[in-house]
Amino acid sequence: MQSIIETLSVPVREGVDVIVVGGGIAGVAAAVAARRNGASVLLLEKQALLGGLATGGLISWYEPLCDGKGEQLMFGLPEELLRLAIRYGDDSLPSIWKKQKAQIDKRLVSKQINDPIGGRYATLFSPTMFQLALDELLEREQIQIRLDILAVRPMMDKLRCTGVCCESISGREFYPAKVVVDATGDADMLYRAGAPCEEGRNYFSMVAHLNDTSAKPRAIKLRRWDSCGSDLSGNGHPANKPTVAGTTNEEVTAFLLDGRKALLDKLRNDDRTQRDVVSLPSMPQFRTIRHLCGAATLRESDCCVRHEDSIALVCDFERPGDWYEIPWGCLFNDKFGNMLAAGRMVSAQDWGWEVTRVIPVCAATGEAAGTAAALMAQHDVSACELCVNELKQKLTEQGVRLHFAKKERERILP
Ligand SMILES: Cc1cc2nc3c(=O)[nH]c(=O)nc-3n(C[C@H](O)[C@H](O)[C@H](O)COP(=O)(O)OP(=O)(O)OC[C@H]3O[C@@H](n4cnc5c(N)ncnc54)[C@H](O)[C@@H]3O)c2cc1C
Repeated sequence: MQSIIETLSVPVREGVDVIVVGGGIAGVAAAVAARRNGASVLLLEKQALLGGLATGGLISWYEPLCDGKGEQLMFGLPEELLRLAIRYGDDSLPSIWKKQKAQIDKRLVSKQINDPIGGRYATLFSPTMFQLALDELLEREQIQIRLDILAVRPMMDKLRCTGVCCESISGREFYPAKVVVDATGDADMLYRAGAPCEEGRNYFSMVAHLNDTSAKPRAIKLRRWDSCGSDLSGNGHPANKPTVAGTTNEEVTAFLLDGRKALLDKLRNDDRTQRDVVSLPSMPQFRTIRHLCGAATLRESDCCVRHEDSIALVCDFERPGDWYEIPWGCLFNDKFGNMLAAGRMVSAQDWGWEVTRVIPVCAATGEAAGTAAALMAQHDVSACELCVNELKQKLTEQGVRLHFAKKERERILP
């Protein structure tokens, strides 16, 4: 391919301590955590609305905060954001979890994740009401935010990131920062900085929200998922389609257009007076695009393993009783010391990655990355130099659980 050299003079905007790129769940959690820890924060989002895949991607199912045996494992921002997701919209939260911090009657705990009484601490939410609530949260936290702005590339001084170049209706601008949190879902900033990353492979799938016109008693029931293509394990993936990484614009465009075509093919012969498509996803529904190859990598073999440098204790959304402690090293590559990863692009593989990519765990790695970024900016240190015990202390003060204590294990397991 031919190439040209483009020379630009770019205006420099006021600098901040922490730039968070990407306003999905991980980015929002990172921005809030950094701000609450005293950093000046700028959040950059290329779309008009916040929430990323969880809202604009129409996922709208907040996976559990509990272990499936009646024990809540996740607190802090994962719980705060779940509550925010249903503050102004309807929910499907099982009744044992309706009240925060209530004592759970373990006899009511059900094996069915969706059981209206004893199901897991998980819920459906309205993506649009959650988007409005996210705006309100960021305003309350006094986080500077730029919407409809593309972070084009990190500016690097050797391996140190000095800020981010952006493109928007204002033209090209440079925003300086001491620390950059990459929460783009596809490691856009770390990859462009030259950090080693791995590509994922995606089965063909597409989810829209459908509304049928028969009477429904609850708002949450007016919307339902309508899926084409495969489930998360690839069941239903068309035999003649290769899986894709989603790392070229041609792949992204084909994935979007093919998904919408599959949906229309499915609906075109329906009675059009009996249903309507209320929302189409405003971003490609790739589960995995690129993730960082970090100083540590979370794997299935880490299930129920204690890590001394854990920055979050998280649960497994499919396998009741299983838990993971996420090592601090999953959030950075030691050569790119002032850049952190958050959300579905942290360093993880196989089932370990499946565990990290769901909404509550993205909130958890976001909270850890934001807290760490604030400390790194304050002490002027890199991720490797940061005192992990100080980070753990801050996270614990924020209500985050880091370890699955032995005594709790004994209490849960017969
Ligand atoms: C089909 C499907 C089904 C799923 N089902 C569930 C489920 O039922 N429950 C569950 O909990 N999870 C589910 N997930 C996973 C979950 O929704 C996502 O992994 C999670 O929401 C990702 O959050 P994130 O913040 O890491 O990334 P994202 O949501 O991808 O957010 C990244 C944000 O960064 C922005 N961005 C990217 N690049 C730039 C740039 N250069 N400049 C500025 N902004 C940028 C994007 O616009 C986006 O808003 C599902 C995912 C898929 C695809």
